[in-house]
Amino acid sequence: MTDSPVFKKVALLGLGLIGSSMAHAMRRGGLAGHVAGYTHRPETLERARAMRFADSLHGDPGPCVADADLVVLCTPVGTFGELAQQITPSLRQGAILSDVGSVKSAVIRDVGPYVPEGVHFIPAHPIAGTEQSGPEAGFAELFDGRWCILTPPPGTNTEAVETLKHFWQRIGSQVDVMDARHHDLVLAITSHLPHLIAYNIVGTADDLETVTKGEVIKYSAGGFRDFTRIAASDPTMWRDVFLNNREAVLEMLGRFEEDLNVLKRAIRWSDGEVLFNFFTRTRAIRRGVVDAGQDTAAPNFGRGKKQDQ
Ligand code: NAP
Repeated sequence: MTDSPVFKKVALLGLGLIGSSMAHAMRRGGLAGHVAGYTHRPETLERARAMRFADSLHGDPGPCVADADLVVLCTPVGTFGELAQQITPSLRQGAILSDVGSVKSAVIRDVGPYVPEGVHFIPAHPIAGTEQSGPEAGFAELFDGRWCILTPPPGTNTEAVETLKHFWQRIGSQVDVMDARHHDLVLAITSHLPHLIAYNIVGTADDLETVTKGEVIKYSAGGFRDFTRIAASDPTMWRDVFLNNREAVLEMLGRFEEDLNVLKRAIRWSDGEVLFNFFTRTRAIRRGVVDAGQDTAAPNFGRGKKQDQ
């Protein structure tokens, strides 16, 4: 059972970091009899062809999803509604339609209306990524040990949910099932806000007049460098995340601003105790992340000496 394919045919719509990593992981684990891939730009199709991670490649989503047991939307979230509308006539009865989008309520809102009777719609979000994009960026190990969250709408066929859960476990992930709204709140603080802060701090440094760009780069190992990695993430993907998780992000941003004001006030009034207690509390969170196997405890995030120079 564990070595046999979970699906006869899997169609990946979008062949960037996440789509190509899924293709590599499926091949590594023998999870699909046939992996079909679709991407809309001919240049990307050619680049994907050179990487050889799919059994068939298509410039049209309809033929790509025909006869597929599992169809996964792996394009930016803002494209899902149109893509779902395009593939609806080609989806086979009994197929699972899923996605990897970083927000979930908006995906249910945009894709839900196009899901035909007899197709199981189970949104999903693998919590794994890098700042790289495109078909060359993917690798089989991306999802190993990471969480994948499934957000089936109420009434979804439980057998189909179990099948998709099993699929992601075979890909290498741990799987949680939760409500889409709750997912969006959790991810707003653990992923979306950190990205917004990184984009903002790098933008602020770029605008400074008293500190030169050369100095910012030269002394970046002081902490700035770690923000630049996150702030190098794909602009299209992140634009769509913020546009489609507006409420949760604004709610978390409000909380963040309040806490920032506490720190600002403590610095202004030289209140070392407030600062010390705050930083002690946050240090424990870091230990929790490492203990949960979601990062390495090696100094400097495990970077080798060469990279630090
Ligand atoms: P990516 O590397 O930039 O790849 C995006 C893919 O979508 C490419 O194949 C691209 O094709 C295609 N695409 C872009 N615009 C399109 C459009 N208008 N119509 C059809 N196809 C289009 O992105 P990614 O990092 O794999 O992200 C894909 C999805 O995964 C997003 O929904 C994102 O929220 C989610 N996700 C990302 C991460 C992460 O860290 N990167 C983590 C978890 C989930 P062309 O090159 O042909 O335009």
